[in-house]
Amino acid sequence: MTALEEIFELSSSNRNSAVKAWKENGGKMVGYWCSYIPCELIHAAGLFPYKVKGLNANGTSRAEVYLTPVCTCKWSRSIVQLAYDAEYGFLDGLVGMNQCDHSRRAHEFWVRKIGVPFDHFVAVPHKMETEAALEWYTKGLLDLKNHLEDHFHAPITSDALIRSIDLFNENRLLLKELQACMKDKDPCIRGSDLHKVIIAGVSTPPERYNNLLKRLLKEIKERKSTTDYRARIMICGWCGDDTTLRTILEDLGALVVADNSCFGTRDYWDLVEVEGDPLDSIARSYLNRTPCPRMMDGFARRLAFTKEMVEQFAVDGIILSRIQFCDLHGIDEFNFKLRENFLGVPVSSPLIQEYGSQDIGRLKTRCEAFIEQIEKR
Ligand code: SF4
Ligand code: SF4
Repeated sequence: MTALEEIFELSSSNRNSAVKAWKENGGKMVGYWCSYIPCELIHAAGLFPYKVKGLNANGTSRAEVYLTPVCTCKWSRSIVQLAYDAEYGFLDGLVGMNQCDHSRRAHEFWVRKIGVPFDHFVAVPHKMETEAALEWYTKGLLDLKNHLEDHFHAPITSDALIRSIDLFNENRLLLKELQACMKDKDPCIRGSDLHKVIIAGVSTPPERYNNLLKRLLKEIKERKSTTDYRARIMICGWCGDDTTLRTILEDLGALVVADNSCFGTRDYWDLVEVEGDPLDSIARSYLNRTPCPRMMDGFARRLAFTKEMVEQFAVDGIILSRIQFCDLHGIDEFNFKLRENFLGVPVSSPLIQEYGSQDIGRLKTRCEAFIEQIEKR
């Protein structure tokens, strides 16, 4: 099997081959919802950190019975539906946080109505640039560390934390090397495939994933490059674990060369810088990472990051994408659209998606119109 084929398998189902192998060997797994939960902490306790996804949910009808009044996000509902259908029965624990009200309620529902052997909630500050926020977040991570140690009888030593930091930093550097291929005029990988690489990464133990990335980097350099494309696109906003939008754009002849999203560059762009105590270093690095729209004082940095991506990856146009009813990204995208001149390339009106590939025809029409707008410039 080629590295890319292995990645397609790992990214296409929740209970993938890495999960099966881990469980067959008696390993424990802890799920988490969001990039602000440090994988290093879970991994240093000898656990497999696994980011939950809504892949292959068979509708959301069971989740809706309880979630209709409090959670309109279909991605969160899909995750709960999977939990309801025992698709996440392999998880030995779940770590939630206050991402947004939708996913927070979905997490609470999962924990209280369906149940998990271990559950923990981290209240992540909505600001990143104050000492009080850092102190609050560090305390939250210390509570998580203590709870993991107690429940799983696994001391998390400083040495183990340093080893985990090194492993995940290596993973981030490999992903950045892969993303750097998109700077080429004729990139050797498609954006939709790169998205699957990232989805596979949050569903695979880091040791196996790093080896896989090294194999992939070797393999793709021998592949035929994509030469004949219509426009270089950046996707900005929520794209989650749904590759539909990228696939549509690339089927229409465009190439997705960059993104600003949590199942994308924002998840791995910033390394954990170790200075002094490893837990403090994790807290500082995670809080200061390229921020997502939940960070109230983060817009200037999100904008600067997007501008940097546009320049580094020679982007021709930005597609703003969000899932239906997502208020966090809705507000952010309005602000991005207002900064179109500053960004220097066409920025689409927000393209609202129904999670789970249900509105392909409408998305195709919108994407085609946007590509034509770029071509006419
Ligand atoms: S948008 Fe922000 S809060 Fe929501 S999942 Fe992504 S990183 Fe977490
Ligand atoms: S897509 Fe939007 S509404 Fe759904 S969990 Fe993420 S931030 Fe919340």
